[in-house]
Amino acid sequence: MKKLISIILTILIVSTGLPQPHRLEVSASSATAIDVFLRLRDVLENGLRTYFRVDESVEVGLFEAPVLLVNADNRLERDFRPEYMIDISQYVRSQRSPLLLEEGAGNAFIAMVASMREDGITNMAAMSGFRDWEHQERLHNNQISRLAARMPLEEARIRAATIVAPPGASEHQSGLAIDVSSACIGFALSERFENTDSFRWLSVNAHYYGFIIRYPRDSIEITGVIFEPWHLRYVGVNHAVRIFELGLVLEEYVEGYE
Ligand SMILES: [Zn+2]
Repeated sequence: MKKLISIILTILIVSTGLPQPHRLEVSASSATAIDVFLRLRDVLENGLRTYFRVDESVEVGLFEAPVLLVNADNRLERDFRPEYMIDISQYVRSQRSPLLLEEGAGNAFIAMVASMREDGITNMAAMSGFRDWEHQERLHNNQISRLAARMPLEEARIRAATIVAPPGASEHQSGLAIDVSSACIGFALSERFENTDSFRWLSVNAHYYGFIIRYPRDSIEITGVIFEPWHLRYVGVNHAVRIFELGLVLEEYVEGYE
C-alpha cells in the first residue's frame, strides 16, 4: 500500500515537471485518505511555489473552490437551491426525515459520522439541514413574535436576527450547514451541546472532514450570530483545516482572501 502511494505520487510529481520528486512520508497503516490528501496537497503546493517562484505572501491554493459566505450582508437569492442534494437521514442518525444537504457536504458528513462511531460516539443526531427561503422566513417571523411578547417590536427584530437568520441570510439555504445535537441533552439546540462528547470530538476533528464550527463563543461582533456549538458549516477540507489552524471565523478568513 505504502509503495503504491509512493509510486502514484512520484508519477504525479514527475508528470507535473517539478524538480526533485519528493517522497511522501506516510505510514500506510495509520494513514487515512485525508492524511494522504493533505500531504499530497502540501507537497504539490510547495513544489509549485518553488518551480514558479511564487512569492511567500501569495497562497498557492490547489483543489480549492472559493468559500461561499452567507450572512446578513451576503444573502442568497430567494430561489437559490443547491443543484444536487442527498437525504442523509437514510445513512446517519437523524431527528428529521428527509434531511437534505448539498451532495458534497452530505457525503462528508456521512463519512465523519462513521468515523465518530469508530471512536465510540453514537449519541449525536442530525437535526436540520437544507431549508428554503420560505421555511427560513417562517422560523424568523416566529422568533420575532416570541421576543415581541416581552420587548418592543423593533428591538425584537434586531435580537431575532442574531438567533434565527432572516431569509436569504441563513447558511441552511445553501445546503452546506447542518445542526447537530446529542441524546445526552435530549437533542436540544442549546449551548449545553458544548459539554457533550460529540462536541468535544467535533471541535478537534470536524475540519478533517471539511466542517467548521461556524459560530464560536464570543464571535457575535464579527458573525452577527450568537454562540451556536451545534451549527456546522461545510467548507471543504482544505479551507476547514486552514480556518482551524488560523483560529478564524469565516468572515475573517474570507476577508483575508480578498
Ligand atoms: Zn444552524
